Amino acid sequence: MRTVNAWAATSATEPLSATTIDRRDVGENDVLIEIAYAGICHSDIHTARSEWGEAPYPLVVGHEIAGTVTEVGSGVTQHAVGDRVGVGCMVNSCRECDACKAGKEQYCTQQIGTYGMTDRDGSITQGGYSTHIVVDADFTLKIPEGVGLDVAAPLLCAGVTTWSPLRRFGVGEGSKVAVVGLGGLGHMGVQLAVAMGAEVTVLSQSLKKQEDGIALGATDYRATSDESTFEDLQGTFDLIINTVSANLPIHEYMALLGVEGTLVNVGAPVEPFTVPAFSLIGGGKSLAGSMIGGIPETQEMLDFCAEKGIGSKIEIIPAEKVNEAWDRVVNSDVRYRFVIDAATI
Ligand code: NAP
Ligand code: ZN
Ligand code: ZN
Repeated sequence: MRTVNAWAATSATEPLSATTIDRRDVGENDVLIEIAYAGICHSDIHTARSEWGEAPYPLVVGHEIAGTVTEVGSGVTQHAVGDRVGVGCMVNSCRECDACKAGKEQYCTQQIGTYGMTDRDGSITQGGYSTHIVVDADFTLKIPEGVGLDVAAPLLCAGVTTWSPLRRFGVGEGSKVAVVGLGGLGHMGVQLAVAMGAEVTVLSQSLKKQEDGIALGATDYRATSDESTFEDLQGTFDLIINTVSANLPIHEYMALLGVEGTLVNVGAPVEPFTVPAFSLIGGGKSLAGSMIGGIPETQEMLDFCAEKGIGSKIEIIPAEKVNEAWDRVVNSDVRYRFVIDAATI
């Protein structure tokens, strides 16, 4: 066991504060990672504020982790000391069920999340807002050369969460894709869809970030506060990815899909959606969901990003600014991912 620095939530309402946590000894199939950067995902905030249910306090969140391997267990063959690696939203799963065998460990009923879940030893998992983490080697990803650890960290959640549905729904050359919300997930979704050959429209609350959206490769950028957006774009898209952290009138967005188009929801607001049956049956449309991505597809996404020169657009902050950064994320004032410099934790 080793004691390491971390920033933890102690209740749903208190700001995060500096503390120490214990990390287990490096087991046979484990790696010890010295964390360099930890991205701030909106899910960290939902969880720590108990918006999705009571969180186990004290809790260290963070599941966009990038760093360097400093120790490996005796059975580890795929990672070595000095390797640049990442950890996303999962640290283990059963490995035997159909989902695990298909490389979709995120849908394993025994999947263990990087924070706030009961680990194999009965302890509660603690995430990336810390200096070190011990993780099973099979849930440790390789960060390719050419992608900085800072811009790679957000790929481990925001990247794969948008990559997975883009691949599942066959986005490619000429696909018409809309991304709703230009935040952490949204700005990755735009870049990945563009790199896959899609024609991408951003649907944002306002035109404040229009220039950025176009620079990321979008060909069209519309404000959802403008009623004419919903008139002009009726029946346009093959796929809409909704990344919004708040509730939306989903049926208005369903109307923007072409025949047999799909709206895939990755945003995770607290309130349920209301979807009239006719917004689905007219046009044979689908409403789908998607949760992060499996380990093989996460590696595929990281390699694709290296090949295409894609990274997250980040603002690096010291740990003491984390509460301020959270407020800015909640206020849609993030461009486009905050990343904590772990050396300041
Ligand atoms: P984020 O950086 O805060 O981005 C969310 C974006 O949604 C904002 O930038 C904003 O974009 C838009 N938005 C926020 N409030 C809105 C409102 N009231 N009405 C309309 N639009 C609003 O958050 P994120 O880290 O990308 O995460 C987004 C959501 O996905 C969160 O709910 C998170 O928990 C969830 N998530 C899900 C998965 C999964 O596996 N499915 C994985 C990671 C995160 P504009 O300013 O452009 O409108
Ligand atoms: Zn996340
Ligand atoms: Zn499983």
